[in-house]
Amino acid sequence: MKSFQFLTLIAILFVSAERTSCAENTLLVEYFPKVVKQGGVCFVRASGPASIKTVYGEFRGEKFPMAFAGHKRTNEGLLGIDMNTRPATYELKVIAKDGKRRVYTSALLLKVEKVEFKTQTLSLPSSMVDLDPQTLERVEREEKRLKDLFQGYRDEKLWSGAFVRPVPGESTTAFGLRRIINGQARNPHTGVDLRADEGAPVLASNSGVVALVDQLFFSGKSVILDHGWGTYSMYFHLSQTLVSEGDRVRTGAMLGRVGSTGRSKGPHLHWGIRINGARVDPLSLLRLTENLRE
Ligand SMILES: [Zn+2]
Repeated sequence: MKSFQFLTLIAILFVSAERTSCAENTLLVEYFPKVVKQGGVCFVRASGPASIKTVYGEFRGEKFPMAFAGHKRTNEGLLGIDMNTRPATYELKVIAKDGKRRVYTSALLLKVEKVEFKTQTLSLPSSMVDLDPQTLERVEREEKRLKDLFQGYRDEKLWSGAFVRPVPGESTTAFGLRRIINGQARNPHTGVDLRADEGAPVLASNSGVVALVDQLFFSGKSVILDHGWGTYSMYFHLSQTLVSEGDRVRTGAMLGRVGSTGRSKGPHLHWGIRINGARVDPLSLLRLTENLRE
């Protein structure tokens, strides 16, 4: 993992119970980057005494899991910074516990930088915007279903190495765009729209399990992958889906074909990422993981 060569290792000593050697009582934490934009992602890795059983992080009063990484007694996790996180410098804590009630804590600083998300103002016929009660109920039901799905956590890392673009086209509508339709603020854009032709293959951006295949009101034909560690990727407006819920897929596997189903102005791929419920910019996950090696 090249990027980490440049990081300062931060060791916070833990004092409790009887003293043994320093190395034995130290929790080492690396994190990258140390300044994250709204909608960005931070990689956190901790290593400590062999006796450690559980490790988790804490950010803004919420826990985020850090899974056993399988080598050198390390635990790793991704911290997603939701697009609406207030810009400030926050404490990032890593807490490790062993089987004997010893607690090792490391407190670090993570700065969240403001992003000037653009605002788009649109006027549309009200029939396209205002939903009848039945449709509204459907939309709310689907939103809840996705929210519940994104709260899930698989204590297993299914992804490996770099995340990749599901289609090669560039971004046409940026992450975080705020939309005002007929004078009313609507949901911001929580993914990126990528240029692609109708029927173009949509590829898995990393390995994972297919968590959802369905036709949703706004998103149309949709596939959602669970990559483990609370990380999900979604692929919307497809013309065709080619996988089933529960399928295991590898990076680059074909999930379906580009389309314009649901509320969509024309063929394109909407690609979204959630990390432990946080709405993050898929392109920031690409940048973060491009230097990761297994
Ligand atoms: Zn979109």
